[in-house]
Formats: sequence, structure tokens, C-alpha cells
Amino acid sequence: MTITPLMPVYPRCGVRPVRGEGCYLIGERGERYLDFASGIAVNILGHGHPAVVKAIADQAATLMHVSNLYGSPQGEHFAARLVEKTFADTVFFTNSGAEAVECAIKTARRYHYVNGSPERTKIISFSSAFHGRTLGTISATNQPKMRDGFEPLLSGFEVVPFNDLAAATAAVDETTAGFLVEPIQGEGGMTPSSHEFLTGLRKLCDNHGMLLILDEVQCGYARTGLFFAHEHYGITPDIMAVAKGIGGGFPMGACLATEEAAKGMIAGTHGSTYGGNPLAMAVGEAVMDVAINDEFLANVRAKGERLRASLEQLIPNHDHLFESVRGVGLMLGLKLKESAESRAFVAHLRDNHGLLTVSAGENVVRILPPLIIEDSHIAECIEKLSAGARDFEAAA
Ligand SMILES: *Cc1c(COP(=O)(O)O)cnc(C)c1O
Repeated sequence: MTITPLMPVYPRCGVRPVRGEGCYLIGERGERYLDFASGIAVNILGHGHPAVVKAIADQAATLMHVSNLYGSPQGEHFAARLVEKTFADTVFFTNSGAEAVECAIKTARRYHYVNGSPERTKIISFSSAFHGRTLGTISATNQPKMRDGFEPLLSGFEVVPFNDLAAATAAVDETTAGFLVEPIQGEGGMTPSSHEFLTGLRKLCDNHGMLLILDEVQCGYARTGLFFAHEHYGITPDIMAVAKGIGGGFPMGACLATEEAAKGMIAGTHGSTYGGNPLAMAVGEAVMDVAINDEFLANVRAKGERLRASLEQLIPNHDHLFESVRGVGLMLGLKLKESAESRAFVAHLRDNHGLLTVSAGENVVRILPPLIIEDSHIAECIEKLSAGARDFEAAA
């Protein structure tokens, strides 16, 4: 037998973390890594944050799980806080990002169904998008590596070029339910929507009775220095999928919606055994207590600007390797020149310089530090990147 007990769907690297301390991961042999990947934008408070640890320990000892058949004082309280701070009127809690997107798609279809337009089922999504790995969410992407061999997928999706308002407009017909879009694409290459594109989609929705569904699983939850990325654009969605940062490492997600958009989601239409259980809610509250306030968000913006400026200063010194910096806040991407391969450079930084980053589409190195980084961590990252670039270029 050659298959491994752990299903080999990930090309796992040699880093084998067994402990985390703030912005660092420690491997099996005691080696330390500066973690500027954060579990792919998840560990917004770093590793072992005392508020998160305490919330888990206290809630686990009090009440970990009950069925959603019972009243949920914990869920009601956290949902009310999310509603108070966002466009939304109502929240469905999930265990992951893909489940949050699934709920968003179901909510949009149900809206048109109860609204007297059951034919409006088509969701328009965008090239290089990533919405998760369920059959529904892979139906909303055009990336062959995620789709091949899993067909037939869900019908009712049309993928058009990202940041192309004319293409999005042209795809709208009488069967369209709405758009599903990441305000800033993560896996696709840390590409922000243009202002014209996202506000244009909002207008199209308003003019044609369609729903704007935002996937803020990666770009949301303080990552860009505002609570949600759409706030940079001065628009609000009708439905929004959230996950990653919301639990700071605890698996949870949420689908947020306006009262109007959620009007089809009545008792019996949707569910989840674990979603929103008391343990998840306690963690969600603890993360929100620390991260979702003006002071914390302002600090994310300041650190983001500092990191970005430092990255930009690296470019002229390594202009055979680095092309440009992109992204917003602490969701940054370093685009490499075509002659270099982002995956290889990420591996080099990891194996030879103890710096963890993630590669993304369009030959981009994703830089996604915990949102609690200090200036010293920025300096350490820049040192490692600079040294890494020097010997990577020398070896090339
Ligand atoms: C990570 C991600 C998802 C999927 O989240 P899972 O928790 O892995 O299901 C969906 N959308 C975006 C934008 C993501 O970055």
C-alpha cells in the first residue's frame, strides 16, 4: 500500500509545526519560523493568544456543544454584535468558509424563489476566484485543477473575467440571481477589485433586482484594516460569506444577510449540526473583543502601510526578482518577475530563511501576517526577504 493514512490531497512541505507562540511557529525539531502566512489569513491574533485560549478553556468547561434545536443565548449574542457592526440584519453560523459561501448561494436562490422569480438561479462569478472546495463552490470557479474529475458540477453558474464590468453586465439576463465576488481576490493573486468594478456590480444589482454576494472569507475580518473590505469601496452587499479570521484559528464561518435578502430562509430551509455552537461563539466573541475596534483596526492600517513601504523599498534592490507590491492593509502580495516562480521562492524563504508565506495565482507571494505584528516582526520579515532574494537570485 502506498497511499498515506492522511489522504494525499495536499503537497505538504517539510515544515511540521507542533507549537505556536505569537507570530512564530515551532517545528518538531525546535526550529522557529516567522509566520507571515497565518494559516492562510486565519490566525489574526497569532498563535496562543491568551484571550482566545481562555475563551476556549472556559467555554469548554461550561458547555461545548448543544443542538441548534435549542435556544442559543451564545449565538444570539454574537450574531447581534455582528449585525450591529455591519450591513447585515441576520447571521447563519457555519464551520468553514465554503459552508458560508454555500449558505450565501442558497440564500440568494431562495430569495428569488419566494420573490416570485424561481427562474432566477444563475450566479455570475469571476475568473481566478476561489470560493472553497465543495461541489457548489467549485462550480463557481473556472480553475481546472479544482474542477477536473468532479463533474457534473452544479448548474447555474457563469464565470466572466474579474474586474471587467462590461463582461459582467453582458452576462446578466432574466435568469440571473446575482453576483458572487471577492472584493480582493486571495488565492487568485491578491488582486483588489477596482472601485469602478465593485461599485458597478452594486449598481447593476440595484437596477435589476439582483443580489450582490461578497465572499470576504479571506479579505474580511480586519485583514485590510477595516472590519470588512467592502467598506473601502463605500458599498454594502446583500449577502456576505465570512470565515478565516472570525475564529482566529477555531474553525468557524458565517453567512450575513440583509432582512430582505434572507427572506426565503425560514425554519427548515437550512441547517448545520455544529454551526454556531457555544464553543465557537465564545471564541468568536473573544476574537471580536480584541480585534474589532477602532484602535486595533487603525493599527492594522499603520502596520500595513509600514510593511508595504518596506516591501516597495526592496524592489529596486532586487529588480530581477520582484516586480510590484499589491493588496490592502495586511493582505499583501509581492508579484515576482516572470523569470522566477513564486512557489519556488516561497519554498526557499521557508526552508532557508525560516519565513512562512504562501504563493498565489499570477506569480504572487502572499504576505498575510497575524494582525498583531510589531515593527520588529516587519523588520525581521524584510531582512529574511532581502537575504532570501539575494541568494535566490545568486542561485538562479
Ligand atoms: C479560504 C477561502 C474559502 C474557503 O474556506 P474554507 O474554510 O477552506 O472552506 C472561500 N473563499 C475564499 C475567498 C477563501 O479565501
